[in-house]
Amino acid sequence: MNSTEFEQELAQERRGRLAAERMLEHKQAELQAANRQLSEHALALSDQIVDQRQVVSDLRGEKSKVSQDLERANTRVVAVERLLWASLETIPDGFALFGPDFRLIAANDPYLAVFEETSGIGPGDSYQAILDVCLDDGLVDLQGQNEDTWYDTMLDRWNDPKIPPVTLRFWNGMHIKMVDRRTADGGIVSLALNITDDILREEELREARDKAQAADRAKSAFLAKMSHELRTPMNGVVGMADLLMERGLDAESHLYTETIRNSGQALLDIINEILDFSRIEADRVNLRENSVDLPGLVQDVLLLFQPTLRDKPIEMHLDYDPSLATHFLGDAGRLRQILVNLVGNAIKFTETGHVLLRVSSALDPKSNVVISVEDTGVGIPDGLHDHIFGEFNQVEDNEDRQAEGTGLGLAITRKLVEAMGGTLWVDSVDGRGSCFGFALNLPQDGDASAPPPVSTPDLSRALLWVEDPLDCKIFERLLGSLGIEVWATGETSEFGLALERRSPHLVICEAGRREAVTALLAKHPTEILLLTISGKPGTQDNIDRPFLRNVVLSKIQALTSADKSPANERVRVLAAEDNKTNQLVLSKMLDGLDIDLTLVEDGAQAIANFKQQTPDLILLDISMPKMDGMEVARKIRSLEGGTSHVPIIAMTAHAMTGDEERIRASGIDHYLTKPLNKLLVRSHVEALTLSASTVQEIAR
Ligand code: ADP
Repeated sequence: MNSTEFEQELAQERRGRLAAERMLEHKQAELQAANRQLSEHALALSDQIVDQRQVVSDLRGEKSKVSQDLERANTRVVAVERLLWASLETIPDGFALFGPDFRLIAANDPYLAVFEETSGIGPGDSYQAILDVCLDDGLVDLQGQNEDTWYDTMLDRWNDPKIPPVTLRFWNGMHIKMVDRRTADGGIVSLALNITDDILREEELREARDKAQAADRAKSAFLAKMSHELRTPMNGVVGMADLLMERGLDAESHLYTETIRNSGQALLDIINEILDFSRIEADRVNLRENSVDLPGLVQDVLLLFQPTLRDKPIEMHLDYDPSLATHFLGDAGRLRQILVNLVGNAIKFTETGHVLLRVSSALDPKSNVVISVEDTGVGIPDGLHDHIFGEFNQVEDNEDRQAEGTGLGLAITRKLVEAMGGTLWVDSVDGRGSCFGFALNLPQDGDASAPPPVSTPDLSRALLWVEDPLDCKIFERLLGSLGIEVWATGETSEFGLALERRSPHLVICEAGRREAVTALLAKHPTEILLLTISGKPGTQDNIDRPFLRNVVLSKIQALTSADKSPANERVRVLAAEDNKTNQLVLSKMLDGLDIDLTLVEDGAQAIANFKQQTPDLILLDISMPKMDGMEVARKIRSLEGGTSHVPIIAMTAHAMTGDEERIRASGIDHYLTKPLNKLLVRSHVEALTLSASTVQEIAR
């Protein structure tokens, strides 16, 4: 091989080597770049790992914190639960929780203690199982209740939306009140409250109350007995003193007798007030519901005060609304007592002027009758209107006031009015007068509202010559309600003129004008009936205040019949009274009346007399030996057999609550308490005999 060739080959080899070296360099550069990239990536990765490690470590920290918190919370829950149960265990009452399936979830020891000695009840047991154990082991004292009924009642309770509490009595005398409430998930929380002490205390209290009531009843019975025992001799004292005063005594003896009478009456009033107050204090206002003849009742009350009025220049008026019904259902005795108190006070605190008892219909829908007592007396100072209703309270510095009275009257009256559902009010101007009143809702007795106008065909026009405008108004309304046309006149000349023009059938005038009127009537061509106000007592044409519809009516009827048949048969009155003094008092009281009085001593004689002569009126003492007045009345009513009805008036010293009802139930129509009031007895006998004579007249 030549050198050229060699050189060429060498050059070629060098070129090849150079190319290889360049290639190597290139590859190395590439390798370096790749290495660089790789290391950058590794760096980034290691950064990431560091970050991740941090996150992991953070998370690990949090996890352990959370689990620590959880552990702490769990510990607290357990502690609270333990505390709660420990607390529930400390209370003496039972506590239990039931699930919605009514199975016991948990209960405290007191709840479970009941079952301890028997089958043992625990969580998981059903409510029914608990009830079964109660019955099977005789844990509950059923107090006479049937087992099935008890079981059903106890089960049903839990179905009630508002579970009613129930008190169970256990065999050992424990009283447990079960108070159950539904939880939000439909389960039941049950509380078993031990109320044994309360029940025992209640029993003790009940026993103490029963004892107190028994003592109170004994006191009441004692008071009743005493009042009866005191009233009976007082009847003799007051009655005989009354009679003695009518015997024309000299001034001194009259004064002594009057003092005996008044002191006796005052003593009786005090006995009554104290008796009544003690009974009302003991909350024993037992109101009766019987038929109340309201006009008759107010008339009785006003008549009772007639003797007192004799000594005072006071006019007593009654204004009974003729449109108002007459018979109501209520406690007549108590109503009378209220009116006696109010009218008594009105008279006591009035020197001149009038006392007006007004009975009218109420406009208020809650009541139907308004009763007021108005006077023109001393009045009550402004600041004392409430004070006087208090017990033992009086208007102290009232100089005009007589010192008599206990100060209990208004307190009793107010309690009675309130017991009847009303309110007692007063309206008064110091020095000018007072008005006490109350409204009541009294059911009507029977269906008659106001009494229908009485047809008096022969009597359709009346003329009044009456001075007092109040009297005048009362007569106008009264006669108007009887269907009679009324004219009122003022002067003599006016009266004379009206007599000519109106041709009245009836004239009513005051006693002072009687002569003038009789002279004018004598000249009149037709017969005119005349009634005089407060004229001669006992005469047929006399009419006294208070003017009442039935009295005015019977007076008019009596006048009409007397006018037609002057030969009137005397009315037969039978009276049975075992006490000699009382017989005398009664016969003297009826003295001067146009009656035939037969006095007998006992019930048997009364019945014999009744069979023999059929009296027009019977007066019966209630307490008679062998056969009492009520027995007599029952026998007489059965003898009558419903075909006739003789009015019977009872006379009795029994004045306790309930007596009136018993007396009336035996067939007795009227009732008078002893000591008898002469005016009251006479007016009753007069009113009844007047109607009896009218009946006789019609029968003839
Ligand atoms: P008493 O009349 O027994 O004192 P009350 O309780 O009936 O007791 O009356 C209490 C007081 O109220 C009376 O004492 C009197 O001061 C006063 N009072 C009662 N009614 C009237 C009246 N109509 N006019 C003036 N004062 C009266």
